[in-house]
Amino acid sequence: MHRDFAALIPVAKKPKQLFVKGQGSYLFDSQGQSYLDLIQGWAVNTLGHCPAVMQQALAEQAATLVNASPGFYNEPLLKLANTLVAHSVFDQVFFASSGAEANEGAIKLARRWGEKHKKGAFKIITFEGGFHGRTLATMSACGKPAFEKLFEPKVPGFIKVPFNDLAAVKAAIDDATVAVMLEPIQGEAGVIPATAAFLRGLQQLCEANNLLLIVDEVQTGIGRTGKLFAYQHHGIKPHIMTLAKGLGGGVPLSAMLIDKTISCFEYGDQGGTFSGNPLMCAVGLAMLNAVTAPGFLDEVNERSRQLWAGLEALSQKYGLGEVRGQGLLLALNTGEVNANVLVEKAMAAGLLINAPRPNTLRFMPALNISEAQIAEALAILDGLFHQ
Ligand SMILES: *Cc1c(COP(=O)(O)O)cnc(C)c1O
Repeated sequence: MHRDFAALIPVAKKPKQLFVKGQGSYLFDSQGQSYLDLIQGWAVNTLGHCPAVMQQALAEQAATLVNASPGFYNEPLLKLANTLVAHSVFDQVFFASSGAEANEGAIKLARRWGEKHKKGAFKIITFEGGFHGRTLATMSACGKPAFEKLFEPKVPGFIKVPFNDLAAVKAAIDDATVAVMLEPIQGEAGVIPATAAFLRGLQQLCEANNLLLIVDEVQTGIGRTGKLFAYQHHGIKPHIMTLAKGLGGGVPLSAMLIDKTISCFEYGDQGGTFSGNPLMCAVGLAMLNAVTAPGFLDEVNERSRQLWAGLEALSQKYGLGEVRGQGLLLALNTGEVNANVLVEKAMAAGLLINAPRPNTLRFMPALNISEAQIAEALAILDGLFHQ
């Protein structure tokens, strides 16, 4: 086994384990140690590791057509676009490979629309704590304090206001404003949900001021919150939605979905070598078919209630903080206990969890995690707090 990390550009602190195999809710390292995985590639592996439907979609499509050309249509591309449209309030789709790229598309479309229909309006209101990716434009859109001083000069035109503060959004709107962009639940900030009143208020504000409402559902989309898309909990109708993570279920696939009334790209404005790649689209279709199968989301909501109740009980037992989130995107405020230390201890005990903040644990298991596996995770956590 290769243990030499020197050939990689270091971009993040990583544990020394070498992962060699994944199966459902478990990951295995080169020493044969198994881990119950509640990170799942960062809320990516919709059906866990190496699900049979993904293996089948990959094998069949790999033997049929891997890459026609971004200049040609292919069948998985059309099927996936039509299925996404059928299950959402949107009419048209553009595919890419990462969440950041999908968001770049949304930013570009909003600016194009502003140029054509709003006298060159280009400013996009985004939120403190928001996360939209790591390209230069999406980093500029982020409200992550650590990004503020990096890679100056940033892409201009992003106005940041406090999350869940409708008055602040209203005050930030001027003639040059073209859109408002947010995550229905801020994931990287520590699982902070937008309130229903805030989302509905934003929709009204956008209508009244002729602004586009953009929801970044890269983390919340594809069943993660217990509905197919998080916006569906609130009865709102955004103009643009972006998807990535769970859409590919582990392969690089992202999408921008739009209302046809704002469709305004000219030929040449947008594209990408891997846009609509049939191999990735075939997997996306397998994920979407699984999550929209009858009863699937009921089970997600059942597991969510179980995990929520278990975390709540731990919080009571050990005097911790609140439980937050929706569906299988949940967080526990660990109060005085350092969440980063807990993450390390959990890994040693065979449980993979994430700490988006020093006092917050985030749980993003496979959507098909079993009742017994959630019970197992809660028992390991209990042991950690007990120490
Ligand atoms: C992960 C994430 C992104 C970035 O996606 P990449 O595929 O890493 O580019 C953007 N927005 C949200 C809400 C995310 O969670």
